[in-house]
Amino acid sequence: MTDSAFQQCINPDCGKAFGIEEIYHSCPQCGGLLDVSYNWNRLAVPKKLNDFEKYWSKRDVPQRLSGVWRFHDLMPFVPLEQCVTTGEGQTLLQNANGVAPFVGVRESSLFLQYEGLNPSGSFKDNGMAGAFTHGKLVGAKQAACASTGNTSASLAMFCAITKLMKAVIFIGSGKIAYGKLSQALDYGAKTVQIEGDFDDAMARVQEVSKQLGIYLVNSVNPFRLEGQKSIMFRVLEQLRWEVPDWIVVPGGNLGNSSAFGKAFLELHQLGLIKKIPRIAIINATGANTLYRLVEQDGLCWNGGRYDKSLVKRFYDEMTAAGRRASTIASAIEINRPVNLSKCLRTLEVMKGVVRDVSEQEILDAKSQVGAGGFGCEPASAASVAGAKRLVAEGVIGRDERVVCVLTGHQLKDPDATVAYHRMDEALYEKYLKKRGVTETPYANRPVTVANHIDAIIDTVKKDGEQR
Ligand SMILES: *Cc1c(COP(=O)(O)O)cnc(C)c1O
Ligand SMILES: [Zn+2]
Repeated sequence: MTDSAFQQCINPDCGKAFGIEEIYHSCPQCGGLLDVSYNWNRLAVPKKLNDFEKYWSKRDVPQRLSGVWRFHDLMPFVPLEQCVTTGEGQTLLQNANGVAPFVGVRESSLFLQYEGLNPSGSFKDNGMAGAFTHGKLVGAKQAACASTGNTSASLAMFCAITKLMKAVIFIGSGKIAYGKLSQALDYGAKTVQIEGDFDDAMARVQEVSKQLGIYLVNSVNPFRLEGQKSIMFRVLEQLRWEVPDWIVVPGGNLGNSSAFGKAFLELHQLGLIKKIPRIAIINATGANTLYRLVEQDGLCWNGGRYDKSLVKRFYDEMTAAGRRASTIASAIEINRPVNLSKCLRTLEVMKGVVRDVSEQEILDAKSQVGAGGFGCEPASAASVAGAKRLVAEGVIGRDERVVCVLTGHQLKDPDATVAYHRMDEALYEKYLKKRGVTETPYANRPVTVANHIDAIIDTVKKDGEQR
């Protein structure tokens, strides 16, 4: 390939390359996942990371205001002026001193990256900017995704704002948080509810989009992952270009973790960083395929020649046992992650570890993130619960700098929050107790009082009801 950017199969025994303008969900030769790759020596790449600061003064250019395209030099698959943006990536890294004691690290060591502050309320907007830029390049008119909620909200929003494509979303019949579904409906996406779960919807959307020529924006789309690399570039930017010790991220379809590994590998290859941080990928116990394969069965990247028979056996057993993903953290309720192989590469590049955390750990962590301000949805809190676990195990040191990625906004799933705070017992039983959340130690219970001024004043004055 002589172009400065191209697509390439990640299977080292294949490695076939394709032009940027081609559309594949996987390698047509071997079925492997595709990367967007670059001939960096044909491109002008900044010599040091703080060279990116020169773009801060260009906020009148929409692509420079974008927290994704501000880093276009590190994802230059089309010229800057052709990049699609809805204002994504204006997100915040907070030194979360209020949450550090809960996690168990020293006060100034914990950072939370609030990707819920994106326009549609989750990190998916970073990737959608990449996918839409490619979709526009290839002239796509319709775009589809299977979604546990946030991808569809993001897709629908990008369609509504840019009018470049029309959205078709596939959802399963299980849990989908209404905060997310309401966005897709409001933005006008065609919504197809399949009688099955997310893994079924994911399989179907790939068939349907192939047959009907609809552009697929799930994270098998390598251009989406290019956009998601920017989450890590912004983390570095906000740490004044210092590399932290740990990145902790929830794992669902494993697009984010795959993108992060690629981001750091490229930065390292370009000589822009000396050290690569470690990564911890956190599953929910009810959807812990990655955890079991990696930590229990010893699956690893092995230079791209990972043990496919091990994976196949695992999936066959899962099918035979009729095991379905189940967790309150609906955004990571996924048992067959499409980016598994890319994620194995990330685990090698970033010397990663995988853990799974219970519903109880997720919701306790979520309440602590909320108590620290801003808040997040349940799946996002898996990262904080996982960090806490790894500190307790001694894997993460108390003095190490830890960045937990909060993937989605607190208002995406208010049911889980209200149930945890025991707003009403029936809701708590239905949403949480049934799932094994038997305690709510951080609940901020509302108090009820008669409509009588003395009683109300007594209640307001009383200590101990508020955390
Ligand atoms: C999509 C999503 C995830 C899972 O990310 P993957 O890249 O699929 O692993 C986690 N949290 C939230 C809020 C999400 O929307
Ligand atoms: Zn291939």
